[in-house]
Amino acid sequence: MIWQEAINNAGLLFAEKGISDAQINSEYLALHVLGIWNKSELQKHINEPLTNEQEINFDEFVNRRLMHEPLQHIIGETEFFGLRLFTSTAALIPRPDTEILVEEVLKAVDGRSSMGDCRILDIGTGSGIIALALASKLPQALITGIDISADAIALANKNKERLKTENVSFELADIFDDDIAKRFPSSLDLLVSNPPYISIEEFETLDREVRDFDPRIALTDDGDGLRFYRRIAELAPKLLKPEGKIFVEIGYNAINHVEKIFFDAGLQVVGKVKDLQGIERVMIAKENPIP
Ligand code: GLN
Repeated sequence: MIWQEAINNAGLLFAEKGISDAQINSEYLALHVLGIWNKSELQKHINEPLTNEQEINFDEFVNRRLMHEPLQHIIGETEFFGLRLFTSTAALIPRPDTEILVEEVLKAVDGRSSMGDCRILDIGTGSGIIALALASKLPQALITGIDISADAIALANKNKERLKTENVSFELADIFDDDIAKRFPSSLDLLVSNPPYISIEEFETLDREVRDFDPRIALTDDGDGLRFYRRIAELAPKLLKPEGKIFVEIGYNAINHVEKIFFDAGLQVVGKVKDLQGIERVMIAKENPIP
């Protein structure tokens, strides 16, 4: 069998199972078996027959995808903000919407005259994508990514090594710990986070590819989906320098709730940014100046 045929057959099987982008999924699995990344290179192999080993590997990956395992977990890597990064079940698969958060932080930092002392904390860093994307664009900033999961921190460090990023460190930490504020007392310029914001009720309604393969603790707080915003609002005045800012990703329909939490904590919302579907996805806040 030649690659063209193998790809078409798998594409049809995916389509029958209702897997969206069936043909593209099939092509990506072929790229993975061939050990190439670029789709244009696939054309060179399209009329070549599969070796026995390639056929066994391709069949295994196709079967995993037919069981709804996400493509990124099978391939083990993905692209975020133009960076190639490892993925695993230790952390969320990066979502394109999260690039908006990174872009907003970059816009905010752009106007600063001195970048040398810009310190950023990424809460719930997961595979480290936000911290690493920021670090790649802000070589003079010092970025710390924290996460409660040791597996996530190991994955983030693997990504840091892969990208050879110097100005990021990843640390195991629980933001609900009482002494967390002592680790970064009033020293941060920016707090950024894509926290678990799915409520427990909504979690049950998630697509199985998300619910069964992304880590539960990265998705839901097992409560109303707002627990992390309450904690971030509480910590912000202790962690941030007076002119510091907060950038958070928020869930569908959560904008008013998060705004109220920030307002009640004495913070001022200074920006809301919509995602590609027109849903308010990123909120920017800062401390209210003392009158
Ligand atoms: N945006 C993700 C999803 O819809 C959830 C990410 C999160 O909880 N931070 O699956």
